[in-house]
Amino acid sequence: MDNAFLDRSFHIRWSKLTANQVVAAIEHALADAARAIDRIAQQDAAAADYRGTFLALEEATDLLNETWAKVSHLVSVADAPDLREAHNAMIARVSAFQAGIPLNEALWLRLKAAAAHPSSMSVEGSHRRYLDETMTDFRQHGADLSPEKKRRLETLQSELAQLTQKYSENVLDATNAWELLVDNAADLRGLPSHAREAARRNALKKGHGTDAAPVWRFTLQAPSQEPVMLYAEDADFRRKVWQAAIAVGSHEPYDNRGLVKRILALRQEKASLLGKEHFSDFVLERRMARNGRKAIDFVEDIHRRVKDAFVRECAELEQFKAQATGDAAAPLAPWEVSFWAEKLRHARYDFDEEQLRPYFPLAGVLSGMFEITRRVFGIVVTEQPPGAVEVWDPEVKFYEVRDCTGCHIGSFYADWHPRESKRGGAWMNYLITGGPQPDGRRAPHLGLVCGNLTPPAGDKPALLTHREVETIFHEFGHLLHHLFGEVEIKSLNGVNVAWDFVELPSQIMENWCWEREGLDLFARHYVTGERIPVELFDRMTAARNFRSAVATMRQLSFARMDLELHTNPAPCLAGDLQARLRELLKDYQVPTEPPAPTAENRFTHVFADPGGYAAGYYSYKWAEVLDADAFTRFKREGIFNATVGAEFVRKILSRGNAADPMELFVDFMGRQPDLQALLLRSDLA
Ligand SMILES: [Zn+2]
Repeated sequence: MDNAFLDRSFHIRWSKLTANQVVAAIEHALADAARAIDRIAQQDAAAADYRGTFLALEEATDLLNETWAKVSHLVSVADAPDLREAHNAMIARVSAFQAGIPLNEALWLRLKAAAAHPSSMSVEGSHRRYLDETMTDFRQHGADLSPEKKRRLETLQSELAQLTQKYSENVLDATNAWELLVDNAADLRGLPSHAREAARRNALKKGHGTDAAPVWRFTLQAPSQEPVMLYAEDADFRRKVWQAAIAVGSHEPYDNRGLVKRILALRQEKASLLGKEHFSDFVLERRMARNGRKAIDFVEDIHRRVKDAFVRECAELEQFKAQATGDAAAPLAPWEVSFWAEKLRHARYDFDEEQLRPYFPLAGVLSGMFEITRRVFGIVVTEQPPGAVEVWDPEVKFYEVRDCTGCHIGSFYADWHPRESKRGGAWMNYLITGGPQPDGRRAPHLGLVCGNLTPPAGDKPALLTHREVETIFHEFGHLLHHLFGEVEIKSLNGVNVAWDFVELPSQIMENWCWEREGLDLFARHYVTGERIPVELFDRMTAARNFRSAVATMRQLSFARMDLELHTNPAPCLAGDLQARLRELLKDYQVPTEPPAPTAENRFTHVFADPGGYAAGYYSYKWAEVLDADAFTRFKREGIFNATVGAEFVRKILSRGNAADPMELFVDFMGRQPDLQALLLRSDLA
């Protein structure tokens, strides 16, 4: 079949991937996978062995996985009506097919027979892990259910896929539907020049204003919204942006309120069907936390430890504002919190994050990061010349990664700036899983990193905030997890690990952004080439843990809300959800007047996917515990220590899900994780 989506070349021909081929490609890949599964399911059960069932199953969906990965990737970076339509036409069928695999009775019989076959007794290493994981996976997906319950489960899955897709579209569409045009420069008081300039250009591009009579256009995309909330002196300006941001997903025509409840109800029904009390227990069974109760205990334990500091920090900000304005201390309005916090930071440390931007031109940050990963992990990253390899947008760059022996371990695309056709946030994904092949060769991996970072403005390069720099390191950490994979079973490679382990490789990378020696490799003034001056670095480090209890509490509030929704859904579904969540989170949220609504209608982590981070948001904190702890080895033995780096690759990155994550962690650290390193790093010990 001549269809570019089905072409499995390493260098994907993006220009040939047109929306009108999606349906045919996916139908072909679905049929191909169905045939392969039929062959396994129809073999003689008595002869079913590990190779003929488990390994054959692993290969059966290869083409489908790769093809669908391209389609869903394109929707997230080059959304267009015809592509979205084709994607939506197929998403229910793909998810129904995937959900149908563990419900295939004949297949399940063959797998059970093969697991008991004498040859399976000697299966070990990653193959043993794969065998065990597959058996548990099938059971978790309903393999042992009655035919009637299986049918119900299938319906639930496909409804969840559609509802969560709609939820995600609502957030994107509501975000894009809003703009604020400002034609009076006086309203922009306080805004840094890069933010004004970006807003002016954005307006021009949309046909508003001229060079002589400029207009400034603001949107809800992070690089536009955040400077307003931090710096705009005009409170009314900030209020408008804040109100628009919190309204995302809460109003027609992009209203997610009903979707949230329907998604929760379906998830609960699914958990019950599979014999679990609630969705959290269902989700966490194979994660490090093991069940919903333990995850809530984890969140509440940290909550207890940081609560006093949190209350102190909130009161301190109220007093600071009161002193500055001469008013009595009182809760701030929600659109004042970031603004006054920034002023307090400035007063205390004479530091605002904007001072660092000139030191973080994107290209310099990338080459510095590649130098760090060369020293620590022994890899060489080379950008391919524009045009050498096809990309999906002219802004996208393509890189090759080789290890110290010159072996091509993988390649990746990087797409760093916002476009309207691109979803928000930053993420890593993969398109091809290589690694060790049955014939003994090693095939390269193919992955990608995307973001919505500050774009270049005029003749200035893209100058990033330190937080954006951390984002790059973070996503690159995920990418390394994929690229370093040495697992023979593709579905166990790289980031295909438990959600509460998956952020260890990404978050540990962020540590290098805070070390003087690390920064010196990439933070150079874009005009003068100077390093960050000592006193600026000192102020930046001092300011690092400014309001760290508030930041911690924000993460904990999302985690607690997520766990509540999925552990205790009945009361959430019955009454006023917003009121209930506010009550639950009253000790987690900065007290404001008026109170800020909770974020369930724009909580894409948890609702933009049938599974996603649902019942798993706590994983960010959990993984912070892991990363802070694991980084203590680099702190002790040297942040560029190649031996520790190699050990991290060998014991963690290269192993993916080839063993239980706790085993991998203990292998690297020599003991179980310790919470203390995180509290120390956050100045909350
Ligand atoms: Zn991440």
